[in-house]
Amino acid sequence: MNHAVAPRVAGRNFLFVPGPTNVPDRVQRAMMVPMEDHRSSRFPELTAQLRAGLSALFKSASAQIVIFPSSGTGAWEAALTNTLSAGDSILAPRFGQFSHLWIEMARKLGFEVQVLDCAWGEGAPPERIGQALTKDTQHRIKAVLACHNETATGVTSDIAAVRNAMDAARHPALLYVDGVSSIGCIDFRMDDWRVDLAVCGSQKGLMLPPGLGILAASQRAISAASTATSRRCYFDLAEMIKANATGYFPYTPPLSLLYGLRESLDMLFEEGLQNVFARHRHLAQGVRAAVVEGWRLALCARAPQWYSDTVSAVVVPEGIDAARVIDVAFTRYNLALGAGLSKVAGRVFRIGHLGDLNELMLMGAIAGAEMAMLDVGIPVTAGSGVAAASNYWRSHRSIGKHDVGEEHRLGGMSSKALARVPVANAAEGGGARLTA
Ligand code: PLP
Repeated sequence: MNHAVAPRVAGRNFLFVPGPTNVPDRVQRAMMVPMEDHRSSRFPELTAQLRAGLSALFKSASAQIVIFPSSGTGAWEAALTNTLSAGDSILAPRFGQFSHLWIEMARKLGFEVQVLDCAWGEGAPPERIGQALTKDTQHRIKAVLACHNETATGVTSDIAAVRNAMDAARHPALLYVDGVSSIGCIDFRMDDWRVDLAVCGSQKGLMLPPGLGILAASQRAISAASTATSRRCYFDLAEMIKANATGYFPYTPPLSLLYGLRESLDMLFEEGLQNVFARHRHLAQGVRAAVVEGWRLALCARAPQWYSDTVSAVVVPEGIDAARVIDVAFTRYNLALGAGLSKVAGRVFRIGHLGDLNELMLMGAIAGAEMAMLDVGIPVTAGSGVAAASNYWRSHRSIGKHDVGEEHRLGGMSSKALARVPVANAAEGGGARLTA
């Protein structure tokens, strides 16, 4: 290796892109396992634990959980090809790069997409979705796609409101939700919102390396899969469900990631899901204080109703290229910030605040972003972001710990313990703790 070309960079890389996120040491250790026979009689125990843990995470008593060796994009494709037939119509709001990419994929796969274009900085518009469905008296629209958390703009949509709009229109379309950058960080309620297909990946709230595409399918989605004629093979839901029912996979599963997933689910349940959500909210509020009160900059999210608790997209002043902030942060301070994508390229940089994080870790990102902005000539006041976040975090508490109810039902349950209760009860978490 030529050390003169690539001198060693000392210290930790501060990873603050909105995924992949930091992999906790515990999860890293859990993944360091010798390879084993994935057709052994012991293997189904792991499959059952993962499915039960994920059911609880998605808050679903009846959804089929499947885990594909892919990133989130593979799970997008699995959702579409398993439940739709060529020429089927889809309704999809577009308000950022990820909602856009899912739409593009649907078109490439041969579906007709009716796009509801929205401002980048706003979320899914329930009223417009309701109007479009009401107009569709022939029920040609088979699916509504909604991105719960648009990672490109730092916007969270109200999925309950989307569901209500669909109900009010009395339309039978299935509801497909991208929870790639929300599930495990922001409350997600598959059953309450009657989501038919929920999509997730391993590298964000689940604190794992990329490589797992996770899909939860409602009974309606599974019925749709029995008649949908789109071609699928590797991502065939029916094959996966059939194999999983016996505790196995139709092909070699990514074993290390599966052991990591069991550990990360345990960590989430040990902290308690409500506490995890509250921590993400608390950390996000500190970042927003830094951006708005400290630096006096704007967020791409246009109003508080859209603020994301997992990622903030910070708009830089006119005449400045946000890519320069990102490059200086990386090369000078070893800090990885998220790039602006597509329409907002050069206009925003993103701070990911999701996964295994606390206030002081985020202080590194806020301080580093502040230094990089000053270096490229953005006239923020030195120390202002750090001070605003510090003031926020010191004067507020993460309130999840006081949130009883659901927390008491789920908290402290490990995925091993969850696997012992029937999957139907897993979202409730009923049953005893594994550890005393
Ligand atoms: N959906 C959202 C909201 C995302 O943020 C991403 C990736 O960042 C994806 C889908 C695509 O997932 P992946 O990159 O894991 O394929």
